[in-house]
Amino acid sequence: MEAVFLFLQEIRAFTEGELGMIIIMQKGAEQHQIDEVVKRVKSLGFGVHLSQGVERTIIGCIGGDREALCSLNLEAMEGVEKVTPISKPYKLVSREFHPQDTVIRIGEHTVGGGDLWVVGGPCSVEGRELLLEAAHMVKELGVHALRAGAFKPRTSPYSFQGMGVEGLKILAEAREETGLPVVNEVMDTRDVPVVAEYADVLQIGTRNMQNFSLLKEVGRCGKPVLLKRGMSATIEEWLMAAEYIMSEGNHQVILCERGIRTFETATRNTLDLSAVVVAKSLTHLPVVVDPSHGVGKRAFVVAMARAAVAAGADGILVEVHPRPDEAKSDSAQTIGPVAMSRMMAEITAIAGVLGRRVPQAAHVHV
Ligand code: PEP
Ligand code: MN
Repeated sequence: MEAVFLFLQEIRAFTEGELGMIIIMQKGAEQHQIDEVVKRVKSLGFGVHLSQGVERTIIGCIGGDREALCSLNLEAMEGVEKVTPISKPYKLVSREFHPQDTVIRIGEHTVGGGDLWVVGGPCSVEGRELLLEAAHMVKELGVHALRAGAFKPRTSPYSFQGMGVEGLKILAEAREETGLPVVNEVMDTRDVPVVAEYADVLQIGTRNMQNFSLLKEVGRCGKPVLLKRGMSATIEEWLMAAEYIMSEGNHQVILCERGIRTFETATRNTLDLSAVVVAKSLTHLPVVVDPSHGVGKRAFVVAMARAAVAAGADGILVEVHPRPDEAKSDSAQTIGPVAMSRMMAEITAIAGVLGRRVPQAAHVHV
């Protein structure tokens, strides 16, 4: 019964929506055999993505001509072991398509390659002096990238909306001074070019996870994208949102779990750490965790950062401010330098137990 169900699912993947399949080459298949298969599927209009593992090559194929494919006996080609449809609705994002972890370089560091990637900074750019002070502080604390929103998605139109392009310029100055790459949220398709000009990573916030025009636009921006999970989105919807970005040609997508809405009111959101393990099993993309929005309360942030690392997250994105009580937005969940320094020491220790590293700049002592 289960076999029949799986078979039906596979047929559905072939008949509904975009056609996706993987061609698994035999161990030791020769390069000319791989080239021949790639040529053949490309001639059918498929987009091809090669995954060259140590043992074997996997050719991921997407799009293409269904009828022509049926008449073609790919499995009979030299060097081919197996051809299977991708059973998931997302293709480029799936681990079937790309079995190895995707590693994304951001400045001097990488995310997804085993090392932990830590992003820290205030919720928003509040002003030049404060941001520069915060940037130097997080650099000393050992983070790998600076965060601070210039365009803020506030629940109330009367709350501080962010400094806009002026904020981006201040962030660029902070990068110049500290060498830290900048992660910045973009909320509007019209702002993608300017945010891409100043930021190193474009963030899509929880409220925009299914803003499909925005997803397509950042899919064409040429910079890595940090995609937060929608506060009411299933893991599959989140992965489909990543598929939108990747389908436009941008394969540098970092997923970020930031808490979801549940019946619980003791915390701002419910930080779904099971999403880390589930997402990492379904996709090759890096998965990071934002414990700040996840719990919304300063006192719980460090513990949840520890738990995220223990669960296998590829990184942590945290709100930290030199004087958190004075933060113009999200003060209640923003930690200060003392807690941040403790967090760095503790996640470094936990990462070590798991055989992972938190890369440290030479001047940082945790
Ligand atoms: C943020 O990181 O500043 C932010 C607004 O996060 P989220 O979209 O997860 O609420
Ligand atoms: Mn915030």
